[in-house]
Amino acid sequence: MLRRFFTYYRPYKKLFILDFTCAVVAGLLELGFPVAVNHFVDELLPGKNWTLILWASAALLGVYLLNTVLNYIVTYWGHMLGVNIETNMRKKMFDHLQKLSFRFYDNHKTGHLMSRISNDLDNIGEVAHHGPEDLFIAGMTLVGSFLLMLGINWKLAVLTFLIVPILVWAALYFNGKMTKTYRGLFSALADFNARVEENIGGIRVVQAFANEEHEKALFEENNGEYRQTKLRAYKIMAGSLSVNYMLMRLVSLFVMVCGTWFVIRGELSYGEFIGFLLLANVFIRPIEKINAIIESYPKGIAGFKRYLEIMDTAPDVADAPEAVDAGWLKGDIAFDRVTFGYDDGPPVVNDISLRIRAGETIAFVGPSGAGKTTLCSLLPRFYEPTAGRISIDGQDIRSMTLASLRRNIGIVQQDVYLFSGTIRDNIAYGKLGADEEEIWAAARRAQLEDFILAQPEGMATVIGERGVKLSGGQKQRLAIARMFLKNPPILILDEATSALDTETELAIQQSLAELAEGRTTLVIAHRLATIKNADRIVVVTAEGISEQGRHQELVTAGGHYSRLYEAQFGSLQNV
Ligand code: ADP
Ligand code: MG
Repeated sequence: MLRRFFTYYRPYKKLFILDFTCAVVAGLLELGFPVAVNHFVDELLPGKNWTLILWASAALLGVYLLNTVLNYIVTYWGHMLGVNIETNMRKKMFDHLQKLSFRFYDNHKTGHLMSRISNDLDNIGEVAHHGPEDLFIAGMTLVGSFLLMLGINWKLAVLTFLIVPILVWAALYFNGKMTKTYRGLFSALADFNARVEENIGGIRVVQAFANEEHEKALFEENNGEYRQTKLRAYKIMAGSLSVNYMLMRLVSLFVMVCGTWFVIRGELSYGEFIGFLLLANVFIRPIEKINAIIESYPKGIAGFKRYLEIMDTAPDVADAPEAVDAGWLKGDIAFDRVTFGYDDGPPVVNDISLRIRAGETIAFVGPSGAGKTTLCSLLPRFYEPTAGRISIDGQDIRSMTLASLRRNIGIVQQDVYLFSGTIRDNIAYGKLGADEEEIWAAARRAQLEDFILAQPEGMATVIGERGVKLSGGQKQRLAIARMFLKNPPILILDEATSALDTETELAIQQSLAELAEGRTTLVIAHRLATIKNADRIVVVTAEGISEQGRHQELVTAGGHYSRLYEAQFGSLQNV
């Protein structure tokens, strides 16, 4: 996994080298100070030569300045490295999310995914910068200071070295605990985000049902869970900080006592004693670093694991390697013994064979849950059939690129999804980059012109999140305008007017009829009056297609359709 992590550094090699080099040089300078002090006390001080002392001080000042600059570079450019890696990962994740299929989104919560792309990646960025650098510097400082201490007095150095196993043990102990806790923390945060996302997204339903108390209780559960895990993390952090503090003081104290003894015995000069004390401080500094690593590394790794979970999910609907651009299709559709079921469930679409000629309008009727919507969603390959094959103009749809296939198919559904933004933005979504004239033409054909002109802001009117500021009919007209602009040869109208009142429905039927002109149209409707004029009506039941034909044929046949029709209109007269 670490190797995969490092592949993300590749585009930023130069930045990494710059940051790393500066950090190493700064680390070496840090090691040099105690040595300098040692010589200052032992050699310059007894000579009492002020000029020399001033020169030495000036040289030290220079080194300090250099170190300041290096620290600036490490902090700023180093973080830039982290931020770049994080941004790149975020981009890759977003790109990947665009490719994942309906099945994936059926099974994942929006809030969870948002948590991954925002919070998890933040932590990865932090580690990407600090991780390798801190580890290396820690190692370098540890070894370097030890060698220097050996140079001053090997006995004292070896004695000091004895505490290293304790340091390593403490680091490993706390690190392991932290990784686990952070994984818990992130999934708690994701649950928490998902809860808020669902609540706010559905706040109108919550208030309509007056279920605020219920929602509050659910939220409190997640909030409490998050608090618990967070507290657990802080508890471990507090433990690790305190233990490290104690260890560091112990080392200082130990060196002080032993050093004094060596000085008294005449084995250590004052300068060496001071230098050694300072070096001992540098020596244990990695504990501090390791502390920081204990804080950030497990966070980053936990985040990276969650990141990989998404990145390693292959889209179950994707372009075949040899897929070609479908170009502009005529819209001659053939379902050939198509079977499909959701998530290994029983088949929802059962061995359906159906031919729809270009330009034909075909209507699907049947009980709710019979699989009409599902059947239509196989055509743009939102889901992949488990058996059988679908072709358009004689070509298997799997041989076309997804983008080119979907360019040829337009869908108008019952619940229109609009984006927050202006009316213009939402119409233009049907054809990005459409000019003003085309947008107005589409609006006109969807009979939306008067409405837009009546708005103080016209086309620039903001319609609110998901179009909340529009009526159902207006939303549907916007969706139709969007489709006029997209102008696909194949059209799917899935209960497009079912949510509307009768009067609006009648008005919108006209626009839909105009939209359907010259296209292969698949209509799903439960109000039979709206589909009487279809070229063919197909009755779909859980067992498959039970009958098909023109309206009048089916009514006379006296089968399923005639019973449905009778139920809706009470008699077999034409209404
Ligand atoms: P219709 O449009 O004819 O009313 P659908 O195609 O919407 O029927 O649904 C057919 C069946 O598939 C239903 O039993 C429904 O519960 C199930 N179903 C629909 N969508 C999904 C989904 N995304 N995941 C799992 N099952 C689904
Ligand atoms: Mg449906």
